[in-house]
Amino acid sequence: MRLCRYRDRRSGSTHVGIVEADGIRDATAALDDLPAYRYPLPPLDPFIAALPSISERLRKIASDAPSRSLASVDLLSPIANPGKIIAAPVNYRDHLDEARADAQIHHQNRIAEIQRAGLFLKATSSLAGAGEGVRIRHPERRNDHEIELVAVIGRKVSRIERADALSCVAGYCIGLDMTTRGPEERSLRKSIDTYAVLGPWLVTADELADPSNLELLLTVNGESRQRANTRDLIIDVAGLIALASSFYTLWPGDVLFTGTPAGVGPVQSGDIIRASIDSLGSMEVAVLNESWSARA
Ligand code: MN
Repeated sequence: MRLCRYRDRRSGSTHVGIVEADGIRDATAALDDLPAYRYPLPPLDPFIAALPSISERLRKIASDAPSRSLASVDLLSPIANPGKIIAAPVNYRDHLDEARADAQIHHQNRIAEIQRAGLFLKATSSLAGAGEGVRIRHPERRNDHEIELVAVIGRKVSRIERADALSCVAGYCIGLDMTTRGPEERSLRKSIDTYAVLGPWLVTADELADPSNLELLLTVNGESRQRANTRDLIIDVAGLIALASSFYTLWPGDVLFTGTPAGVGPVQSGDIIRASIDSLGSMEVAVLNESWSARA
C-alpha cells in the first residue's frame, strides 16, 4: 500500500489517502477507528500504531472513493506525529570522504565514522511533506540537500537483534535531511522547520521486503547531484534499527533517516529538488526563503 496524507488546496482540509496508478483515493474515514487517547499521550504516532488493524478498512474505503489527481493536492508528511526522528550521520563511505575534505561541510567539526558518532535526533517540528516545500531560515548560510532512505517503525521494540530488525518496519519513504552548514550541533542545524521532508508517501513494508538494493537519485533544477545505492550503506537499515534500539525504545511512527551519500550541495530560494528512490517513487520539493512565505 502507498499511504499518503494530503491537503485539499481549495478547502484546506487534510486527508489520508491510498495512492494508486490513477491517482489518490480518500480513505480518511478509516481514522474514525483510531483509539481515543487521553492525556498524557503516548510517544507514538496513532495512525502508524493502528495500521495493522485498520489496513483492511483503509483499502475498503479507498476502493469506494473516487480517484483524484496527485497534481490537485499538496502532499503532507505521511507520518504526522512521530515520537522521534532518528538520523544517521555520514553512513556512506563516499560522503565521509567528501565531508572530511570540504571545510564548508565539516566547519572544523571532526567528522567521525558512524560506528563512533552513533545517531542523532532531529526535532519532530521540522517535518514537512513534499507539497509544503523547504523554507530556508538562514539564506546567508549554506543550506544543503541530503537524500536518504527513511524507514518508519511499526511496533514498539527495544534491544532488537539485527536479524529481526526489519520485522518492526511499517514502511519506507524518501527523506530529505536538509542541513544548514555551520559549527553548531547537528541536531540544531538540521531541526529547522521544514528541514525533515518525508514523502511522497509511505510504501508499506509488505511491498518492499528488501531495502538493501535501492537506487537513490537527487537533482536540483534538473542537474544531477546525488546518485547512489543503499547497498553502499556502512550500517544497513537493520543494523541502524538494532543500534538505535540498543539505546532507546522505538515506538510506532518513529522515523529513521539512514544517511546520505556523496554529492550534498547547496540549494537556494527558487530551486526545485527532485528526489527518487527505487520502489518508493519520486517527489518534487520547492525551496523558498522563509520570509517569502511569511509575506504570502
Ligand atoms: Mn543526513
